[in-house]
Amino acid sequence: MSPGWLGLAHDDPFGVHNLPYGVFVAGCVIRVGVRVGDLVLNVSGLESQGLLDAHGTFETADSLNPFLAEGRPLWTAVRSRLVELLTDEAHRKDVEPLLFPLDRVHPQLPVRIGDYVDFYSSEEHATNLGKLFRPGQPPLLPNWKHLPIGYHGRAGTVVVSGTDVVRPSGQRKPPDADAPVHGPSQRLDIEAEVGFVVGPGSDPGVPLSTKDFADHVFGVVLVNDWSARDIQAWEYQPLGPFLGKSFATSVSPWVVPLDALSAARVVAPPQDPPVLPYLADDRTGYDIRLEVRWNGTLVSRPPFAGLYWTPAQQLAHLTANGAWVNPGDLYASGTVSGARRDQAGSFIELTWGGAEPVRLADGGSRRFLEDGDTVTITATAPGADGRVVGFGEVTGRILPAGAGPG
Ligand code: MN
Repeated sequence: MSPGWLGLAHDDPFGVHNLPYGVFVAGCVIRVGVRVGDLVLNVSGLESQGLLDAHGTFETADSLNPFLAEGRPLWTAVRSRLVELLTDEAHRKDVEPLLFPLDRVHPQLPVRIGDYVDFYSSEEHATNLGKLFRPGQPPLLPNWKHLPIGYHGRAGTVVVSGTDVVRPSGQRKPPDADAPVHGPSQRLDIEAEVGFVVGPGSDPGVPLSTKDFADHVFGVVLVNDWSARDIQAWEYQPLGPFLGKSFATSVSPWVVPLDALSAARVVAPPQDPPVLPYLADDRTGYDIRLEVRWNGTLVSRPPFAGLYWTPAQQLAHLTANGAWVNPGDLYASGTVSGARRDQAGSFIELTWGGAEPVRLADGGSRRFLEDGDTVTITATAPGADGRVVGFGEVTGRILPAGAGPG
């Protein structure tokens, strides 16, 4: 791929090999954009000016949903046209006026999310949480290796990176207390995850197969599934997470297309026992390397490549009962944790339930999140020809309980 007139460095994680999509506000108008280098290309403007044909899905849109609904043939055609526009000198004079510096635009939630599902697909994370939540019992429940465990999250409280998160209040039962109390969470945590954005919907009553993944999933965002462990531990049995997680879930603003991740494909771990036929897949995983920073200190590097359940299996399972998906649905992997402590995707694992505080570069130490703390999750994946694919970041700051957004 020619570096083109933009003059981007070979190692720029947002070169024309990536081209993630988002929605941004510049001035008073909302536009669909594509990030390239430290610039954002106004693709709504490109379409209005007749330089790009996206079937009208960019021209007046305030979300990626119309584009997502069109499916892979349009995604492929638009991608190749964008590469042409951004590399061929002949298009420079038309395209240059539609480029904005990244730091001058305000990224929005890229997708209108109808349904949000969160899985629990890292064996290391499920094992760690089992030990911490149910000490003395087998850490993995009997169903864990037979199906990708998940729950339906709250789509309406998914927020874009940079949105402050108010510390949730709720019921918790201190271990030595006879009765629960209500108040601000004292064990506020993160979950570093990878999210998958659904493209074309499926038909009611017709499950998708693992082979349908590439036709029904457009791309990937980073997810922070903020979790109040004390609320969660008291409320989760028998129906699973509820208010301990529904107060906010943050996502990164730029959706990296699956098309940018061909070189990041890896073989996911073998599964034993064998799965039921509807969950059989080609074991395609993705070598997405996450980094978690707590007030700027790098505390963990969770490896997505090792997840037991693949995104194709998750999609097949979430439609296996006949439930259909719609354009813009989001499903997340579950906390990504590796085998080592410095690969933990949550702080309850990193500090082992708060028993082993982590020291931050500013000299402070932490067990769980304190008011004013900021957590930033970033990621990269291998691209073709030694390039790197960037995912940007999902970041959020904790405000005190009861405080409105600052
Ligand atoms: Mn989660």
